[in-house]
Amino acid sequence: MTRLHKVYLLFHFCMMLWPLTQFAAKTTDNPHFQLFYISASFSSLALQGAGWLVLTFFLTGQSYLLTRRASAALAIPVALTVIGILANPRGIFVRTSGDVWSQREYGPIFWILFAEIVLLCLLSMICIVKALRRGVTPRHRSQVGMALKGLLLFLAFGWADLLVNVAFNDYFPDIPGITSLGLALSALYFTMSIQRYRVFDIVRIAQKDISDSLAAGLVVIDAHDVVLECNRSLESYLPAKTGDRVDLAAFLRECGTNTADTEAFMAKYGSVIPERVQMELAIPGPDAVGMRHVLLDASPILSGTKELLGRVISMQDVTEIRYLVEEKNRQNEMLQLRNRELVQIQEELFKANLKLEQMATTDSLTGCYNRRFLMQRLEHEMAANIRYHIPFAVIMFDIDLFKQINDSYGHLIGDEVLFGTAEAVKGILRRSDLLARYGGEEFAIYLPHTNRQQAEKLAERLKETVESNRIVTGTSGLSISITISVGVLSVEGRQTPSEARESTAYIRHLFEQADAALYEAKNNGRNCIVGRKLA
Ligand code: GH3
Ligand code: MG
Ligand code: MG
Repeated sequence: MTRLHKVYLLFHFCMMLWPLTQFAAKTTDNPHFQLFYISASFSSLALQGAGWLVLTFFLTGQSYLLTRRASAALAIPVALTVIGILANPRGIFVRTSGDVWSQREYGPIFWILFAEIVLLCLLSMICIVKALRRGVTPRHRSQVGMALKGLLLFLAFGWADLLVNVAFNDYFPDIPGITSLGLALSALYFTMSIQRYRVFDIVRIAQKDISDSLAAGLVVIDAHDVVLECNRSLESYLPAKTGDRVDLAAFLRECGTNTADTEAFMAKYGSVIPERVQMELAIPGPDAVGMRHVLLDASPILSGTKELLGRVISMQDVTEIRYLVEEKNRQNEMLQLRNRELVQIQEELFKANLKLEQMATTDSLTGCYNRRFLMQRLEHEMAANIRYHIPFAVIMFDIDLFKQINDSYGHLIGDEVLFGTAEAVKGILRRSDLLARYGGEEFAIYLPHTNRQQAEKLAERLKETVESNRIVTGTSGLSISITISVGVLSVEGRQTPSEARESTAYIRHLFEQADAALYEAKNNGRNCIVGRKLA
């Protein structure tokens, strides 16, 4: 049961109450019953006036006018009048001059009731005329016309009753039931009309109710952009009523949409082959607070022959979605920025790590490996060398009379000589060989997979390279050449595993042997090589 059904039933009930109570008043001689029936019938009349207006609102599609305030403004005076009629204090509604109520005089409340009904009928009339002017669909017009005719029928009989039985009562005999006849006729008329125009078409009413309950604004326009139907929410987006012409281009301009976008939209909208067009606009929010994003969608309604009959335009508030999308994008951007920062930090950390590793394993002055790294490498490799009898060699060399260079040219020049010597040595080594600064001006070279001959050959080349290498110092431009004494220890890798059980001690032993060879070379007059061999 829709609201329209309920309103109509209530109205009809009030309508029927009048003839019923009027008739009942005539059936009894008891003055109390007579007064009760008369009061009841006039109360129903009071309710009918308001009922008329409410029904008119519904029939003309203006039920939205029935706000709480308007309903109260309508109900309160009616309720007061009904109370006045039923209470009838000191006969201010009706008085009898005789013993029965058929001889009666009406007091001020009657005239207030009369004025109220006139006013309410007048309002209904205005409402109907306005709706008739606006009504564009034949269905709407017939519905409104029905309300008008029903009202006129009721008014005509009501007035006739008033004239005959109240105003000119003295000139006319008492003719009962004129208003009742009018009410019965208008009820009959309504019933027939409802049947004919299917006013209570449930699907249509439901559609209207549903479309009115939507938050999106909906409007159906014909091929000439004239509004045929719109829902209640539309007014908050677009001020258009049924019968108005919608000028979308002007609306878009008013919304501040730029010319290029407006033209592109209108070109698509008015294209020869009609298609669905969408656009997002920013329009001032309710009470002009902030802007709201609105998705405008215009979909064509086509006939079977693809002829444009009209369009359905919807306007949906997408402010919240837009806000969420923007917020998500902003967070994404922040995440990306943070990611980039993290990647940068990671790269910096990687570089710092590399540098730390380099610092931990190399000698800062010469760029050679340091003694610690050499020892670690040897410890690693020694086990495999021994197990698989892999030959290897250790060369130790020391710059001859280096103290004199320091003494003659100073420590800085001495440093440059150390660096230049190391560079020259690096130039003749294989990739697998490991050059380390052993201490002061003393260096060690680990030669993996190298037998005695190869080691001594390399030592010879080493001695010659250093001797022939002239170190030109940067600051003073001096050209210095030095010599080295070299001790070579070659290991054939045939030791028994027991000898090499304690690898640290074994390595120490290896270096003692190499150092001894170097010491011997010093004693042999320097700038020479002494070789030793471990089985
Ligand atoms: P020998 O031929 O017997 O080896 O004589 P030498 O003068 O080379 O040997 P000695 O042990 O008497 O002197 C080594 C000098 O090397 C002493 C020390 O000041 C110097 N020295 C050690 N490390 C560095 C360094 O990093 N930079 C410089 N400039 N001098 C260093
Ligand atoms: Mg020396
Ligand atoms: Mg030395």
